[in-house]
Amino acid sequence: MIKALWNDPVWSKVIATVLIGVFTLIGTLLLGLWPLLISALLGAWNWIISDIKLPLWFFMLLLGAAGFLFLAIFSNALENYRLKHKDTPPWKDYTSEHFFGARFEWQWSHNNTPKNLLPLCLQCDAIMTKYDTSAYMVSPTLQLICENCGYKGVEIEGTETDLNRKILIQVELRMRQLNKGHQHHKEGN
Ligand SMILES: [Zn+2]
Repeated sequence: MIKALWNDPVWSKVIATVLIGVFTLIGTLLLGLWPLLISALLGAWNWIISDIKLPLWFFMLLLGAAGFLFLAIFSNALENYRLKHKDTPPWKDYTSEHFFGARFEWQWSHNNTPKNLLPLCLQCDAIMTKYDTSAYMVSPTLQLICENCGYKGVEIEGTETDLNRKILIQVELRMRQLNKGHQHHKEGN
């Protein structure tokens, strides 16, 4: 079938032109050389209506090149897709949560622990200050207060170290839950 078409002087050139057109199109898309595409198509048309016969090896060469090109593009796209979905654990996006009347933000360190815990005001998003409110009390307490808008978080029993520990426990717990859900999802696939 292809051989019969190839032996036809017009069809063989149409096939060759389509293949060359694909190369040119990709080239122009990559390099933005649209005038090249137009001149290539015009040249191809003149070539099709001429009556020079093409050798079969030329067709095979084009076909092989086309196959190679598609394979290269396909594997490149596949690699990009893989990189994009490369086992990014879902908890890496988990960097904010409400605790003690404030919104805490943090980053994940290289050994997968939250770092740079930052309390932010629920009303104006400013960084809140930790106030020691234990002046007349036996046990230490503190409170997060926004100096920008005056918003106050709930009073927390314990020191700043206690506060950070309580938050880290919650974050770590949630992180493990997210991780479990992720593993489950992966096994389901
Ligand atoms: Zn505020």
